[in-house]
Amino acid sequence: MTDLLIHDAIVVTVNHGNQILERGSIRVTDGTISSVEPTEPADRAAAAEHVIDASGKVVIPGLIDAHRHTDFALVQGLFSELDGDELLKEAFALYHTAEPTLGDSFFDAAWRLACLRQLTHGVTTVNAMDFTPELGAEAIGESGLRGVIGPELADFLDPASADEQLTAARRFIETHHDTYDGRVTASIAPGGEAGCSRELWEGVAELRADYPDLRLHTHLYDAAEGDTMAAGSGADDPLDLLDRYGLLDERTLLTHLLHADRGDARRVAESGAHVLHCPTVYSYFRAGARAWFPLPALREFGANVVIGLDDPFWFDSWDLIQEAKHARLLSNFEYGAQQWSSYELLRMLTIDAARALGLDDQVGSLEPGKRADLVVVDIDTPRHRPYSNLPSVLMNTVTAGDIETVVVDGEVLMQERSVESMDVERVHAAATRERDRLQARTGWETSLAGSTPPDRSILRRVSARPLLRAVKQYGRGVVNRHLW
Ligand SMILES: [Zn+2]
Repeated sequence: MTDLLIHDAIVVTVNHGNQILERGSIRVTDGTISSVEPTEPADRAAAAEHVIDASGKVVIPGLIDAHRHTDFALVQGLFSELDGDELLKEAFALYHTAEPTLGDSFFDAAWRLACLRQLTHGVTTVNAMDFTPELGAEAIGESGLRGVIGPELADFLDPASADEQLTAARRFIETHHDTYDGRVTASIAPGGEAGCSRELWEGVAELRADYPDLRLHTHLYDAAEGDTMAAGSGADDPLDLLDRYGLLDERTLLTHLLHADRGDARRVAESGAHVLHCPTVYSYFRAGARAWFPLPALREFGANVVIGLDDPFWFDSWDLIQEAKHARLLSNFEYGAQQWSSYELLRMLTIDAARALGLDDQVGSLEPGKRADLVVVDIDTPRHRPYSNLPSVLMNTVTAGDIETVVVDGEVLMQERSVESMDVERVHAAATRERDRLQARTGWETSLAGSTPPDRSILRRVSARPLLRAVKQYGRGVVNRHLW
């Protein structure tokens, strides 16, 4: 018996042959794709529990956000007009004020809103690194999405000791790994060479030995001082640090690598580790010294490079397709045109990301035997017709707003833009309530005109910035509680 039948779709399979069916049918039974074949006239009258007529529309595998943080999703809109140095100061100040006092209700609302954002943007799987992983596992699981969640370990940032954090991480793995029918899994997520002590790295190595099937997810070379930080843990450089603890192999995910050089790129590729690239956050804020990751060398040596949004709430965009476009534009700007083809970008958002997460036997392409994670993209509109070169349309023209239906594990979570698996009103109400608490506790104010840091903020003391003038000009009376 077929549970879900999609017919007359343009099916972009992202299989080995990059096959595109001009008019195809996808059958799903018990959450698994049973067939992907050209549509037969009989398909249009076939019996199935759920039938989607996708005439003129495109079906692609669900998108995979390969690197994201979630805890502070409710700060969206506060930092968008800051530069990199201001962002870091304000974010740390706010997080320090907010984290001890806001409690689980704040972070739960953040995770629920993030799930809603993720779902409505067609991101079926996220690879997250957060300080509230239990809330994340529950939110991801209950919303029907798929997620790999790592408790972020960083004893230089978090007041808990290395031992306490490692014990909590072990408990998280034991309790939450492989739950919700396997949609929620765990990773081991040390923050990186800048945030972790030697003691913590030793504990991470023990965790890795005890849970060899889990991914090791970390930041590396995101600051120019990487070598110095690694030296503090007795290593020559950040890659050597991982290597010494037996943490550098094909189960390792390295985020950023902004300050890595050609030699580092070769070592990454030879180890089989995967590279998680987040272009928007760095180009938006230009934080720190200008540097870009060594893409040509990584590609020359054969490393798997995939894409993540990192902190989408800092720059107000949850659109992974736009993120891929930024990756292309910024890499072309740095290294010359044609760093990636459109189809390569699509593979990075789907099958290559699934491979990085060790999920490519389950998701990432539309093939019989895989779990049914897919999205329907509506390009049967005056805005898109007529078209050719579908991969280019998908990666250059389409935005997340064109995604109308989302399926995970064979379940329809959003149909024709109506969210089925979450109580949207409840998510919005909780987010608004907690956002009000955030503003009351920290002194940040927001209005339609922009955001205003609290009086004690470094920004307020040093200079009146344009964002403050905008608020004065329009007045603060136009606060709309549903528009951040
Ligand atoms: Zn990150």
